[in-house]
Amino acid sequence: MTELLFRDDAYLRSCDATLIAADDKGLRFDRTVFYPTGGGQPGDTGVARFADGTTIAIVDAVKGATPDEVVHVIAPDVPRPAPGSRAVLELDWDRRHRLMRMHTCLHLLSAVLPYPVTGGQVSDGKGRLDFDMSEAPPDKDAITAKLNELVTSDRPVRFRWVTDAELDGNADLVKTMSVKPPRGSGRVRLIEVDGLDLQACGGTHVSRTGEIGPVRVRKIESKGRQNRRVLLEFEGTP
Ligand SMILES: [Zn+2]
Repeated sequence: MTELLFRDDAYLRSCDATLIAADDKGLRFDRTVFYPTGGGQPGDTGVARFADGTTIAIVDAVKGATPDEVVHVIAPDVPRPAPGSRAVLELDWDRRHRLMRMHTCLHLLSAVLPYPVTGGQVSDGKGRLDFDMSEAPPDKDAITAKLNELVTSDRPVRFRWVTDAELDGNADLVKTMSVKPPRGSGRVRLIEVDGLDLQACGGTHVSRTGEIGPVRVRKIESKGRQNRRVLLEFEGTP
């Protein structure tokens, strides 16, 4: 089990950690700031700087045997340090911050378009949500204008923990149909965009919507009779 520091502070860029195990795939530490791939958000990248001066590139982070275990993926030909080695884990912060901004923006999009969400994905500089929506979607410029209005309103984004039992008693909290919140650890984290959106989510978020910056709807695609895919990108993306 890995102590997941990003869950309580998404702004931590680095941490001290002790190597627990190393195998073909990568490294497991006692604690980490690296978010593992899940919930439509890619795993973090960065480096591990070991006490002996060795620096190892972390090319991805994925969940291990249990959801609370993070495997820091490294190249297969890199020699594995011995368990017990101390290291400083450092994120590629610029990339992670872009992922946090876009991820938070998808919460705004789910409020602008109040339809059931059937899927979603964040990538570097881009994001999308799939909606179960039979009627024609609003004009993409209208969605862009509404999103940027919510961004510039600079609303606080907060989180709080609830037990699985509390969540089961309030199914409306689970808005997404295919991207399930992490469960099984006895509690889940609720993300609230002030006055706008409340849902269970395990990803990383910025603390105010103003930090997202200008965004636009790149396009809206029809995916079958019922589904509409809305693709976002940051303003200024080539
Ligand atoms: Zn989220």
